Amino acid sequence: MAYDTKNVFAKILRGEIPCQRVYEDEHVLAFKDINPKAPVHILVIPKGEYASFMEFSTHASQDEVANFFAAIAKIVKALKLPESGFRLVVNNGPDSGEEVPHFHMHILGGKRLGGMA
Ligand code: AMP
Repeated sequence: MAYDTKNVFAKILRGEIPCQRVYEDEHVLAFKDINPKAPVHILVIPKGEYASFMEFSTHASQDEVANFFAAIAKIVKALKLPESGFRLVVNNGPDSGEEVPHFHMHILGGKRLGGMA
């Protein structure tokens, strides 16, 4: 799938639109979801141009993949979510309802989340 450089997360990465940043390193940016589904709703994105989970897992370097998951763990710990529980969600493709064609992982928490929809 060709990467669409006009997608909203690409614009956030270029600084063209604002975000509420919670974490950033060389490979990763994390920010608050604009339409939160839980008291804590963070989106974690790689800085590389990967349109989906499948693109990221197939084409990203081992460093990028390892760094991505390490960043998630750092954010979860910084937000003090591990003890109360949290959920990680990735939507991939139209059947999942994926809206933004730049790979992202949702971190949800801060309340009892109930069952998966
Ligand atoms: P998905 O359905 O997995 O593609 O999730 C896309 C998410 O991006 C949704 O939860 C949106 O609320 C969120 N979103 C869209 N635009 C923005 C934005 N400008 N800043 C923060 N989150 C956004």
